[in-house]
Amino acid sequence: MSDPHKVFETYLSKNEGRYTSTKKLITTELFNLSEHFEVENFIDHLRAKYKTMSRATVYRTIKQLLDAGLLQKITTRDGKVFYEQSRPQNEHAHIICNICGKIFEMHDKELNDKIDNYCENMNFKVDYRSIHIYGQCNNCS
Ligand SMILES: [Zn+2]
Ligand SMILES: [Zn+2]
Repeated sequence: MSDPHKVFETYLSKNEGRYTSTKKLITTELFNLSEHFEVENFIDHLRAKYKTMSRATVYRTIKQLLDAGLLQKITTRDGKVFYEQSRPQNEHAHIICNICGKIFEMHDKELNDKIDNYCENMNFKVDYRSIHIYGQCNNCS
C-alpha cells in the first residue's frame, strides 16, 4: 500500500496545491483515527492540541483528501456525515441504522471480488467501492 502522504502530495501538485505543514499535520492526525469520524468532532480533537487550527483549512483538506481517494464518506439518513480512511485492502460495506445511527461494517472479500468481476466484465475501471445499506438494527426494530 502506498504512503497516503505521497498520494496526497502527488494529488495536490496536480491541483495547484502545496502540501503545507498544516495539511501534513491534519493528514497524520486523520490517519491515526481508526473509527468513522465526524468533521466537527475531529476539529475539536485537533484544537485540543493545536489551538489555532482553522476550521476552514480542516474542511478544505478533508475535501481534497476525499477527491484524492484517501477518504471515504458515509452519510446517515438523518444527514450526519462520517468519514474514514479509504484503504483498498480494507474496503468494506456499511450497514447503517436509520433510527440510532449506528454504523456496522461488513467485511466480505467474496462480495468485493464479485463487484470487481462484474465491473471487469463491463470494462469499468474500479477506483474504490462504497456500499451502504440502510435499515433498522437489532435494538431499534
Ligand atoms: Zn439502531
Ligand atoms: Zn467503515
